[in-house]
Amino acid sequence: MLTITSDKDKSIIESIKKLLLIFRCGEVFILLLLVSCSTRVPPYNLFSFSGDIMGTTYQVKIILSKEQILPEGMGEKIHACLSKIDQLMSTYKLDSELSQFNQYKGEAPFPVSKETREIFEISQEIAKQTGGALDITVFPLVEIWGFGPKSIEHPPTKEQVEEILKNVDYQKIEILPEGIKKQNPEIQCDFSAVAKGYAVDKVAELLDENSFANYMVEVGGEVRVKGEKYPGTLWNIGIERPVSMERSTFLAIKLKDQSMATSGNYRNFYIWENKKYSHEIDPHTGYPVPNTIASVSVIHPSCAYADAYATAFMVMGRDEGFRFAEENAIPALFIYPMNETQFKEQPTSAWKQIIQSFK
Ligand code: ADP
Ligand code: MG
Repeated sequence: MLTITSDKDKSIIESIKKLLLIFRCGEVFILLLLVSCSTRVPPYNLFSFSGDIMGTTYQVKIILSKEQILPEGMGEKIHACLSKIDQLMSTYKLDSELSQFNQYKGEAPFPVSKETREIFEISQEIAKQTGGALDITVFPLVEIWGFGPKSIEHPPTKEQVEEILKNVDYQKIEILPEGIKKQNPEIQCDFSAVAKGYAVDKVAELLDENSFANYMVEVGGEVRVKGEKYPGTLWNIGIERPVSMERSTFLAIKLKDQSMATSGNYRNFYIWENKKYSHEIDPHTGYPVPNTIASVSVIHPSCAYADAYATAFMVMGRDEGFRFAEENAIPALFIYPMNETQFKEQPTSAWKQIIQSFK
């Protein structure tokens, strides 16, 4: 479903309501009101688009000056852009390009769309950088741990994990001009750790093509902003409190021409025999990552990269993940649980710099 609202519409309706009220009070007031209405109409219009996609929600806000006209069908174009990515990259849709790649066992490279190739390239780049902490070939593990499309009766046994682990290795994938080659026919991929961020980038590309200078795009919590919300006011983006019981803002940060993605184990997890299993899986051990980090947020110009790094840091853990982010000057905020309700923040130097630059 797609919903469109405009601040301009709301302000016109408000003005008419006030006019009707004042008619009853006399002409002097009408004059006063007209003056106040004309000064209250903002010099810009905010257009909002929202809907459901990729098993989550999306929201797009575009700020236009009063002179600019929103091209017709913008909302539909945004939705179509997101639907296309979902249709290519979903592991929940059996006819998606990714599902077909996963079912394919041939030796020849599997031809893929421009978009799927691009997400393979980004994922493989981050996999190499992070020593395979981010590894899209994790799909068979995601499935046996019950975080894929199929439900499970109980967590897998040690033997099952060891067996499945043989088919998880990003180095068994080659990106060739003709397509994507599997060196092991059992390789199956999952783009969930990068696809939402990638989808945000694709919508931003569409908005850039329309020369919009001020916008915010959000898909399932991964965000990208350009310009300002209002003249002189930057976009303020919230980071969720990393708890499962409620949805509230832990802190908000100002962003300009950047993306921010957050990974955490506070929403997507289950408890089996008093043990918590989270959806971030360590491709080296085959097991869900321990719960030492509540969430990691990463800022990057590209939302796909921010998304990929955030997942990688969850997997790398407190020490290795933080060290990697610090050494590579990546703005990242690690949030650790102190107890059930209290958390400790650890920002990298690059994160602190961004915060300070907007103070
Ligand atoms: P979210 O989808 O909640 O934003 P992430 O971006 O961290 O969280 O993506 C987590 C999803 O990515 C998991 O649900 C799983 O499908 C997949 N995944 C889990 N572990 C890994 C990993 N080590 N590398 C790549 N993908 C992973
Ligand atoms: Mg991610």
